[in-house]
Amino acid sequence: MTTLTTDFDVADLPRSVLIGLMGTGVTPSLSPPMHELEGARHGMHYVYRAVDLAADETSPAQLSVLLAFARTLGFNGLNITHPVKQTVVPLLDELAPSAAMVGAVNTVVFDNDRMVGHNTDVTGFGGALDMAFPDSQRAHVVLVGAGGAGSAVACALATRVESLTIVDIDETRARALAAHVGTKCPAHVEAASADSLPRLLAAADGVVNATPFGMVDHPGTSFNPELLSSDAWVADIVYRPVETDLLVAARERGCRVMSGLGMAMRQAADSFEIFTGESADRDAMLNDLRNLVTAEAAGTYTPVALKRGKNR
Ligand code: NAD
Repeated sequence: MTTLTTDFDVADLPRSVLIGLMGTGVTPSLSPPMHELEGARHGMHYVYRAVDLAADETSPAQLSVLLAFARTLGFNGLNITHPVKQTVVPLLDELAPSAAMVGAVNTVVFDNDRMVGHNTDVTGFGGALDMAFPDSQRAHVVLVGAGGAGSAVACALATRVESLTIVDIDETRARALAAHVGTKCPAHVEAASADSLPRLLAAADGVVNATPFGMVDHPGTSFNPELLSSDAWVADIVYRPVETDLLVAARERGCRVMSGLGMAMRQAADSFEIFTGESADRDAMLNDLRNLVTAEAAGTYTPVALKRGKNR
């Protein structure tokens, strides 16, 4: 029988932090290693579990039960992703401005008996843009893609530009997002059809791709890059791969470019800070993310699936 030593000071024990990621198809997420690596740098026992929801666990009632369990079982917080970023909103006690603006939450922190929702996709994209193009013109910006991530990007842009035009092949979606964001900020926000892109892109100071075009399994670009003015900055939020077809083409035209890595890293860093109250090392987290994306592409990083049993 092993005798455990009691010769330690409890105050010297590392802080423990327990975080979950709830959504469907989250097993391949790079958030667990990103958070755990940052936690380790802070000397914490930081455990981040991807909790892949079954289809029948995404209803408001089921999500409410899962949130209550997470709180009862001692989780400090949760990241929330597709398809429950909006479902979770009415289940919370309070929303940070970022979450209230977009009407979606990707970070929930258990603050004593309150559940507070934040949206670090909004703050993450905004921070990445400010870092990449600190002095660039932002009067007229075009956002292509009005889905889940595009909605967060639109909110970040709308507090930084004079005029934002949102284009989506699903025009109803673009119009709904423009109407929503337009009521939340002083910027002029409108929707336009994809047919208007030649005119819009010729006059744009900046362009953002928030469609899946450029991903490994979705190659190509969401619009013809030859329409870009060489004076424009171009941001892609796709980051697997980091060098998307759009960024390569835009750089060839002389545009300044920003990859999706900055947003992905910053949403994690901002969440880490909300969960722990400690400053995240963004340079180190960016390096980690770049290494993880490279390892994933090379097949040398394999995420571990959380086994949740057969009867759930
Ligand atoms: P989504 O499916 O919710 O939305 C995509 C939108 O793009 C849809 O509205 C669709 O109609 C539109 N679209 C598709 N092709 C188009 C085209 N040619 N022209 C105009 N609109 C077009 O997806 P999402 O969750 O918003 O994610 C989009 C991409 O963003 C993902 O594929 C992912 O790679 C990336 N992403 C990056 C981050 C990050 O942190 N960097 C975070 C989330 C998502």
